[in-house]
Amino acid sequence: MYLLSAMAFASTFYACKYGKKGLKRSFQWLSPHIWWHPSSRQDYVLWIVNKCILSIFAPALFSQAAIATWIYYQSLNWTYIVSPIELDTSWVIALFTLSFFIVDDFSRFIVHWLMHRSSILWSFHQVHHSAVTMTPFTVFRTHPVEGLLFTLRSALAQGAVIGVFAAFFPQQISLFTVFGVLISTYIFNLLGANLRHSTLPISYGKTIEAFFISPAQHQLHHSLNPIHFDCNFGVTLAVWDRLFGTLQFGHDHQELQFGITGKIQYNSVFTLYSQPFYLAWRIIKKNVISLKKGP
Ligand SMILES: [Zn+2]
Ligand SMILES: [Zn+2]
Repeated sequence: MYLLSAMAFASTFYACKYGKKGLKRSFQWLSPHIWWHPSSRQDYVLWIVNKCILSIFAPALFSQAAIATWIYYQSLNWTYIVSPIELDTSWVIALFTLSFFIVDDFSRFIVHWLMHRSSILWSFHQVHHSAVTMTPFTVFRTHPVEGLLFTLRSALAQGAVIGVFAAFFPQQISLFTVFGVLISTYIFNLLGANLRHSTLPISYGKTIEAFFISPAQHQLHHSLNPIHFDCNFGVTLAVWDRLFGTLQFGHDHQELQFGITGKIQYNSVFTLYSQPFYLAWRIIKKNVISLKKGP
């Protein structure tokens, strides 16, 4: 369903905009040259292996839900510190959903931005960027260390919003509201993420792209061309990139090469898992030596 909805969206978008030619273009993406490319095959293996690792160490959704539940019950005690606000329940739910969405999206942006800023974090994030062709499975091409960081991020972001709302509106926010919002945000992200990782540059036009990140914009983020380096870190909202001066607009006809520059070759799945640890260790060692030597 996930892939079919992506394909349906892409073909409708291109057919409406460019007619028959557009439709043909969207079907070119189904080529085995893309879906059976060595890079795509690595994506599938990483997806399965990461699932196994996560199910052993930390079932993501369960641990997030457990942390959110814990914070919810903790924050019920905070009402002694802050005085509750009287507001209609429907308003509280609307405010909660909006705040939740904004905090969640901003925290994703900031963690992603940091992954490009810190050389240690970049060692792990470059696994995602090492994809030379893209299918929706590329979203799962991440190192488990990055997966862990993003799980922590969402637990903290959710916890902060839930805590504040449960303290100020103690009678109006229930666990059902919280999980309703969690599930709807999850579905929203799933839908929005569909074609970001594809070779189909779908641009929404400058007016919309100034507010929402399009698939074409995320593809620029993966581009090998230096003029596109460090742009479009956002997931759903483009406003954070505008604030940080990193926004670039996409184009339906952009032709990009994906991947990372440098000597590192991710030829095997083993190197995709092991190389980041080696690179991070080398950076830490170098920093420790320069600290010992002094200025
Ligand atoms: Zn990135
Ligand atoms: Zn990506």
